[in-house]
Amino acid sequence: MTTASPEARAAGRKKEPPAPVLAVENLEVRYGRGRRGRSALRGVSLDVAPGETVGVIGETGSGKSTLARAVLGLVRASAGSVRVGGEDVTRYGNRQWRALRRRGVVQYVFQDPLRSLDPDLTVEDSLIEPLIVRGAPRKEAVERGRAFLDRVHLSADLLGRLPGELSGGQRQRVAVARALVTEPSLVILDEPVSALDSANRVQVLEILKELRAAGTSLVFISHDLGSIAGTADRIAVLYRGELVEVGAAHEVINQPRHVYTRLLVGSAPTLHSRTADRSERDALRAQLSG
Ligand code: ADP
Ligand code: MG
Repeated sequence: MTTASPEARAAGRKKEPPAPVLAVENLEVRYGRGRRGRSALRGVSLDVAPGETVGVIGETGSGKSTLARAVLGLVRASAGSVRVGGEDVTRYGNRQWRALRRRGVVQYVFQDPLRSLDPDLTVEDSLIEPLIVRGAPRKEAVERGRAFLDRVHLSADLLGRLPGELSGGQRQRVAVARALVTEPSLVILDEPVSALDSANRVQVLEILKELRAAGTSLVFISHDLGSIAGTADRIAVLYRGELVEVGAAHEVINQPRHVYTRLLVGSAPTLHSRTADRSERDALRAQLSG
């Protein structure tokens, strides 16, 4: 045991990591009431540090979107807490959430860009709306909107188009640009590349890597470990509503600890690490269900 002087302890404290942009603690979310209700998330704890990209992986129904919704105030926690940028939002009502959203602190991108974009707004209006709502002058908002369109590698020719007049990949990139214009400290992306063909997927993943390099904090949710592997700093594995493993991306991929993670890694054909053969996967599945 070491007995540090108060000075040494103060110095040590200075080196402490900065406060997380997202702190989820012991989160439980139940859908439905009473005996018929069932929990979609149980005891989920996860921090996201400033500038960090955390990948959340899990099969369909494991609770990934529920986690995204809880962080965005779209479903309420039954237990536990959610802090966004140091602010405890767990008990926030609709009005407080609206105010928080208007400040643009936390933004989102969903799988289907038609859910993040208003079909009746042109690309330009979609991009400037979050800024206008915050009181930015129109001219300034337009300039900023254009700059962010450029950041997602789209041409200004698209500014006058409606979402319905864009390809799926272009639409998703507009949704990403819209999420970024307020310079949020955190962006939640729920299956952002899952609906895209492989060429568009690669492009959007490249953009996410650029955002990460620029210091935006991301929560990147996907059922596909291949998409997350090259993009995330850390990976959190969700299995049936519980986080079964959280660690540095390379560790989770190269030395998966939980049986379910081993199964995921074993069935991801695009990962460099050794792919498990069929009998190995069957054995892991048997362990999981046992
Ligand atoms: P994922 O995004 O990983 O596919 P979800 O978070 O959408 O998982 O769903 C987790 C679990 O919660 C599933 O069993 C799902 O059926 C259930 N669920 C999701 N949304 C609702 C809802 N609005 N009402 C009731 N159950 C829901
Ligand atoms: Mg989902």
